[in-house]
Amino acid sequence: MFWRYFSFLISQVVGSLMGLYFDLAKIGMVSALVGAMLGAWVWFIFDFSRAARLMRWLRLGNTADVAMSGGFWGEVADRARRLTRAREQMTRDSQNQLQDFLSAFQASPNGVVLLDAEGQIEWCNQTAAAHFGLQAQRDLMQHFGNLVRDPRFASYFAAQDYRSSVLMPGRESTPTHPVQLSVQLNPYGEGRLLLLSRDVTVLEQAEAMRRDFVANVSHEIRTPLTVLSGFVETLQTLPLNEVDRERYLSLMAQQADRMQMLVNDLLTLSRLEGSPSPGAGEWVSMPEVMGQLEQDAHALSVVLNPSADRPHHMVFDALQDGAVSGATSELISAMSNLVTNAVRYTPAGGGIRVCWRGLADGRAEFSVSDTGPGIASEHLPRLTERFYRVDRSRSRDTGGTGLGLAIVKHVCQRHGAQLKIESTLGKGSTFSIIFPVERVQIGLDRR
Ligand code: ADP
Repeated sequence: MFWRYFSFLISQVVGSLMGLYFDLAKIGMVSALVGAMLGAWVWFIFDFSRAARLMRWLRLGNTADVAMSGGFWGEVADRARRLTRAREQMTRDSQNQLQDFLSAFQASPNGVVLLDAEGQIEWCNQTAAAHFGLQAQRDLMQHFGNLVRDPRFASYFAAQDYRSSVLMPGRESTPTHPVQLSVQLNPYGEGRLLLLSRDVTVLEQAEAMRRDFVANVSHEIRTPLTVLSGFVETLQTLPLNEVDRERYLSLMAQQADRMQMLVNDLLTLSRLEGSPSPGAGEWVSMPEVMGQLEQDAHALSVVLNPSADRPHHMVFDALQDGAVSGATSELISAMSNLVTNAVRYTPAGGGIRVCWRGLADGRAEFSVSDTGPGIASEHLPRLTERFYRVDRSRSRDTGGTGLGLAIVKHVCQRHGAQLKIESTLGKGSTFSIIFPVERVQIGLDRR
C-alpha cells in the first residue's frame, strides 16, 4: 500500500515539475497544478489498466497464468491466486472423499439408494439397480415410488414409519427362483432417505425349511402318539379279554416302533449334518456288504408279503472284490436304504436287481433297479428332501419315515459320491451311487 501512495506522490511531483518546466499555464503555481493533475491522470490510467487486466484474469479464472506481478494489483492477484488454489484443492479433496464413499457404497453387498426429500433417486449402487431393476443413469431423479410399485413397499413408504424393514420380492424373482429382499429406509439430513436392500432369499428359505421341518416332525410324531394314547385309554377303561388285550398291545408296539424309527432317522440325519466328512482310512468290503444286503432284502420281502413264499425276483449282481473307503455304518445305511425302498415299493411278483461294478474311468457304481411303480419326473428333484413322499400310504404302511433318501443324499455328499435317480412311471426306478476314484479299490483286471 505504501508503494501505491508513494507512486501517486511521485506522479504528482513529476507532474508538477513537468508543468513548471513546460510552463503549461504561464503562471508558476497554476502550471505546477496542471502538471500535477496530468500526473494524476496518467497514474489513474496506468492503475486502471492494471485493475482491468486483473479483472479479466479473474473472470477467465485460469489461476495457472500469471496475471501480473508487483504493485498493489499484483499483490491482489497473488492473494486471489492463492485463495483460489486453496479452494480448488479443498474441492478436489472433497470430490475424492465423495468418490471414496461412493466406491465403498458400490462395493457393499447390500443395495444402497440415496433419495432426496421428494423421494427422487439421487444415486444408487449396482446391487440396488439389480435388486429393483433400475438403471443408475436413466433413473436418476425419478421418484423411487414410481419405479418400485410393489404394494408392500408402497404402503411401507407411505406410512413413513421406518423403524423396521419390509420384505418384498426382488425384480428378478420368479416362481421357480424366488428372490426375497429385505428393504429398510433410514431418514437422514433434511428429509432425505437412505434405502438399504438385502437379499434374504437363502435366510428365508432356511427359515421356511426350519418351520416345515418342525411341523413335519410334530405331525409324524403326533399320529402314532394319538393312536398310542387312545389304546392306553382303552386298556385303562375297558375290561378286555386276553385276545383283545394282546391285539391292542401289539398295535401299540407297532406305533412305538414307528416313533423309534423316526427318532433314529432324525438322529442319523443330525449326526450326518453335524460331523466332519469321514476320512479315507476305513475300507468297507463290498462283497460282505452285498451279502448282508441280500439277506436283509429277502427277509424284508417275506415280512412285507407274508402270503407269498418268494414275492420278489431278486438278482445280486456283484464283483467278488472291491471296497469303498469311508464310514462303514453310513455307507451300509445308504445302500440298505435304497435296497429297502426297492423291496417296499415294488409289489409282489416284481423284480429287483442290485449291482456293484467298476466303471471304465476308475469310479465304481452301486445301483438298485426295480420294476416297481416308478416315479413321475416332477417328483424326482424333490425326492431327497426330508419328509417328501410320492406315495404316502405305501410309505407309512411299509414303515417309511420319509427320511431315507435324505440320509442317502447326505452320505453321498460326505463321501464325494453322486446319487443318480432314473425312473419311468409304471416301469420302475434305478437309484445309483457313483463313488469317486479315490474312494474305490477294485482289482484292475476286474473292471
Ligand atoms: P420313505 O420312508 O417314505 O420311503 P424315502 O426318503 O426313502 O422315504 O423316499 C421318498 C419317497 O420316494 C418315498 O415316499 C416314495 O414315494 C419314493 N420312492 C423311493 N424309492 C422308491 C422306489 N424304489 N420306487 C418308487 N418310489 C420310491
